[in-house]
Formats: sequence, C-alpha cells, structure tokens
Amino acid sequence: MYQAFTEDQIQIRDLVRDFTRKEITPVAHIYDEKNEHPKELITRMRKELGINGLTIPEEFGGMGYGSVEQCLITEEMSRGCLGIALCFGYTGLGQLPILKGGTDAQKKKWLEPVISGDHGISFCLSEPGAGSDVPGMTTKAEKKGDKYVINGAKQWITGGGSADAYTVFAYTDKNRGTRGVSCFYVPRDTPGLIVGKKEDKLGIRASDTRQIIFEDCAVPAENMIGRENMGFVYALLTLNASRPYVAAMGVGVGQAALDYAAKYSREREQFGQKIGTFQAVQHMLADMSITVEVGREITYRAARMSDANDPNLAKYSAIAKAFTSEGAMKCALDAVQIYGGYGYTKEYPVEKLMRDAKILCIFEGTTQIQKNEIAAYVTKEAASGK
Ligand SMILES: Cc1cc2nc3c(=O)[nH]c(=O)nc-3n(C[C@H](O)[C@H](O)[C@H](O)COP(=O)(O)OP(=O)(O)OC[C@H]3O[C@@H](n4cnc5c(N)ncnc54)[C@H](O)[C@@H]3O)c2cc1C
Repeated sequence: MYQAFTEDQIQIRDLVRDFTRKEITPVAHIYDEKNEHPKELITRMRKELGINGLTIPEEFGGMGYGSVEQCLITEEMSRGCLGIALCFGYTGLGQLPILKGGTDAQKKKWLEPVISGDHGISFCLSEPGAGSDVPGMTTKAEKKGDKYVINGAKQWITGGGSADAYTVFAYTDKNRGTRGVSCFYVPRDTPGLIVGKKEDKLGIRASDTRQIIFEDCAVPAENMIGRENMGFVYALLTLNASRPYVAAMGVGVGQAALDYAAKYSREREQFGQKIGTFQAVQHMLADMSITVEVGREITYRAARMSDANDPNLAKYSAIAKAFTSEGAMKCALDAVQIYGGYGYTKEYPVEKLMRDAKILCIFEGTTQIQKNEIAAYVTKEAASGK
C-alpha cells in the first residue's frame, strides 16, 4: 500500500523537520546530560511552530488536523530527540480524554489554553502498583456535596513536572470494576495535588517524569470529564488513538539510528577500506532500513484508521506500536554496533538513541500487552470464521 501525503501534510512535516535540525538535534545531548526539561526551547516551540492545538477540532478553536499530521510532527521531533519530543508532545496524550469524552463546553474551556500555547496537560493513569493491570489501580474519587475528593498516587507521569493540569483516572464506584472508573480534569494548583520528585531515568532524560499524589484533593463536580463511570472507556479510546503517536516516535528514533549509522559506515575505515563495504555492516543497515520503512507504513496506516474511526483501530495501533518500538530498539542497538567502541561512549549520538529507544517498549502499554491485545483480536477473528 503506497501512502502518499498531501501537500499540506508535507508542509507541516517539513516545518518541523527544519526546526528539529536547527534547534533540537544540536542541543539534545545537553538536556540529556543535565537531566533537564528544556523550558525555554518548549516555550519557543509553542510560540514559533504555530502547531498548538494541531488535532483539536476547528469548532473548538484548534487547527482541525488528525492523527496523520500528529504522527508526522512526532516522527520528525523524535528523530532529533525523543525526550524533547515528549516535552512538547505530552499534552497530545493528556488532552485526549477531553477530546474523547468531554462535553462541548469542557472542550472549549480546557482546550483553549492548549491552543494558545500556554498550557500543558499530563495523562495520569498508571499507579505505583498498577501499570499493565490498569483495573488494579486504587485511586478513588468520592462525591462530597458539589465536589469530588481524590485520594491516591499516579506514577511515571510524563510532563508531570511542567504540566498545568492533569487528566486523572479514579474509581468513583469500585464495586462496578472498570465500569466504576471516572476521569477528572485537575488543575495543578488544586490544594491536595502534590508533584513528586523528578525520576532519574535511563533515557528520555529531558522529559520530566514525576509521581503525582492526591491527598484529599477536591475538584468541582463539573471537572468530571464527560459522564460518570465512563473513564475506563475514555482511557481505552485515548490509548488506541495515542499508540500511533508512540509508533511514530519509534519510526523517528529508528530513522535517526539509520541516518547516523549509514553516515558513519562511509567514514570509518578498517583493514584499509570503509566499514560500509563489509557485507555484515551493509546487512545491518539494510535490516534497519526495512524496519523503518515497514514501521512507517503500519504507523500511518494506523493513523489513517484513527482519523477514520475504524472499528479495528485497537488491533492496528497495537501492531504499529509493538513493531516500531521493538524496531527502534533494534535499530539503535545495531547503530551502536556499527559505531563499535565509539558507539558505546557519550561522544557519539547513538548511545543516547539506545537509551531513549527502550522506553518505547514500555510506556503506553508494554510490548507484551500490545501482543496480548493483538492475539485477542486474532483469536476472536478465528472464532468468528473471518
Ligand atoms: C518514562 C515513563 C513515562 C511514562 N509516562 C506515563 C504517563 O504519562 N501516564 C501514565 O499513566 N503512565 C505512564 N507511564 C507508565 C507506563 O505506561 C507503565 O510503566 C507501563 O504500562 C508498564 O507498567 P509497569 O511499569 O507497572 O510494569 P508492569 O505492569 O509491572 O509489568 C512488568 C513486566 O510484566 C509484563 N506483564 C505485565 N502484565 C502482563 C500480562 N498480562 N501479560 C504479559 N506480560 C505482562 C510487562 O510486559 C513487563 O515486562 C510511563 C512510564 C515510564 C517508565
């Protein structure tokens, strides 16, 4: 399937590609080393790129683009630095429960500041004791008068340190299991919301990952997103829609690994010849190219399915996420291999790519969880005789 992009889409991609080359790639190693959120750079990106609210419908003041465009910008930024791409892009995930479940009035109110570029929203689903096992979460929200009082802790929250608000999943009726989860919009300055310490991570070190704690954190009842006890559905819709974005990150990281490795193979000489003339090295490059190109096809296929509200999106976004995440990891490993000993040092960019790539196989559902989902689809299809 040949997937052409429109002129509009190419323009958006090239705008971000150009910015990434000039402004992100050259500083990526600095924020990685300092384990620092690039606050000024993100402010500039929000102001200069003009793509805040890219996927927010025009009726709510956004640009009205879809998943394909979001994937294009995500791929390009991730090619420069996955950590910085996440610092810019975490709101794309955090705003999804509002887009998927919110009322029109909620969309207008809470997405307007995102569009103006002044606002970040983090997505709070995972907990210290409940990652893959989402229903195992324990955070609860109790109705008290005209407020909901939230108690619990959310773990590994991307953008947690810089976000202005959080979309938070909590049980409103534990007895109903996943049908008793609701989702809340919680502004950062709400009393009882505590931002934990920044995690010291292996990779994506520019990205500010925190624990977010709720201690008798009371929000007005109207801060419940959409309908009561529909939170689990909104979470699933969010993850189905966001997994193509993670897949695009994998394509970007894989492409970066290939770019660096191919260039180095033309420079480095051993035994009196360029290492790129050895078939063993050529085959690693070919494998990387296959992984990136196939990954790109399945990623944009899933993105198009997301834009078309295709009923099989869950299967294809899981396939895209699993393939490109593991693919990016393999590409980064092979890039280090092609660089030899130099690849193992911080002097060269592939070491960081290898550390960054690993998170893709873990967050927004590990590779094993994606495979569970794909297998469930395949067996269901077999049972129905498809
Ligand atoms: C840097 C970072 C950023 C993150 N950002 C966010 C965020 O913004 N918001 C958010 O809500 N969460 C976020 N997460 C959480 C992330 O989604 C979870 O870490 C992930 O879902 C895995 O959960 P866990 O870490 O608890 O691992 P566990 O669920 O404990 O899994 C441990 C291992 O067991 C395997 N496993 C577990 N259950 C099964 C099963 N049923 N079948 C097969 N294998 C299984 C897993 O694949 C894994 O290998 C982030 C995590 C990290 C590390």
